Amino acid sequence: MRRNSLDLTAIVDAIEEVLPREQEFIALHEPYLVGNEWTYIKECLDTGWVSSVGKFVDKFEKDLAEYTGSKHAIAVVNGTAALHICLKLVGVAENDEVLIPSLTFIATANAVSYCGAIPHFVDSAINTLGLDPKKLDSYLQEIIVMKNGFSYNKETGNRIKAVVPMHTFGHPVDLDLLVNVCEKYNIELVEDAAESLGSYYKNQHTGTFGKVSALSFNGNKIITTGGGGAILTNDEKLAKLAKHLTTTAKVPHRWEFVHDHIGYNYRLPNINAALGCAQLEKLADYINKKRALAKRYDEMLKDIDGITFFKEPDFAKSNYWLNVILLDEANLELRDMLLRILNDKGIMTRPVWTLLHKLPMFRECPKMDLSTSKLLEKQIINIPSSVVLGDSYNA
Ligand SMILES: *Cc1c(COP(=O)(O)O)cnc(C)c1O
Repeated sequence: MRRNSLDLTAIVDAIEEVLPREQEFIALHEPYLVGNEWTYIKECLDTGWVSSVGKFVDKFEKDLAEYTGSKHAIAVVNGTAALHICLKLVGVAENDEVLIPSLTFIATANAVSYCGAIPHFVDSAINTLGLDPKKLDSYLQEIIVMKNGFSYNKETGNRIKAVVPMHTFGHPVDLDLLVNVCEKYNIELVEDAAESLGSYYKNQHTGTFGKVSALSFNGNKIITTGGGGAILTNDEKLAKLAKHLTTTAKVPHRWEFVHDHIGYNYRLPNINAALGCAQLEKLADYINKKRALAKRYDEMLKDIDGITFFKEPDFAKSNYWLNVILLDEANLELRDMLLRILNDKGIMTRPVWTLLHKLPMFRECPKMDLSTSKLLEKQIINIPSSVVLGDSYNA
């Protein structure tokens, strides 16, 4: 009796067909550094402006704002720090609950915890791999009581202060629907746009829908500053406060050290910003290459039974940061075998993050029905997605 219809050899062959043959190991996502990186870094070294002050930080912030269409961008040390400050900026405080997907990278939940707040896990949608606004709406209808215009969790009595959708692997969540939910329940919207630089929802850049949003420039993201992140906002006051809080909250003075908040040393060093400026110059080209790679994967994988190559939702133009194969429900038990075969061949592939509500630190946190996340956790396989792999393909 045939257990299932999955032809593992066909999948492996199709993926190998897309990838370069001469390489022994193909990473999931590696940096692509072919522009002005050397020139700008050399300038930092030659001038001595390597640390917390210098022109590249200002330029990187200006270029980021321009690229995303956000009024302001504040560069910080990493995406997790960006998220931490975003949550502070919308007033997330001790014992507030913050709605986040269970299917996300650990940083989303950690940032909530740094504020003394409580992650409240919500389910994801099959068409975006991100937070499901419709399901969230019906859930909130059940669990929320409104007092003085604010939302409280009936069960815990805690204020539900914010929601942090994450644009999974670069694919935007349905932001129009989510914005409506936020307005209905008076909940602040903070986007975790760490994976979605260069991704658009209905022609508007992700990270510009929330009151504040976080980007990441870690080594595995679409562009990198070594380590780095940024806060996006259209609100001038919040932008100023973000800069202040991330630079030790020092009151400007020629010689005195006066600080007026408990601030953070989260500023991005100039040398990292120099990398960022060079990388940002190439981003449009990177996105073309990544979209071309995704198209090529789709061509090779679309006719194979038992799997689906994940494509951007109708309303989106995605950066295709990490490409995804979804196993059909009948084939879930073959996931690890497929991972083993591909990794043994030097083709780096991996499953999605362990759902956060299962981790020891978050096991007791409130959560809704997470059936779609649980299914996706078993279905998702990420396949190599570096910019360089799209070099020879056309979008
Ligand atoms: C990368 C990432 C972050 C931030 O990571 P850093 O390594 O701190 O820059 C946050 N959330 C998600 C979903 C990410 O993928």
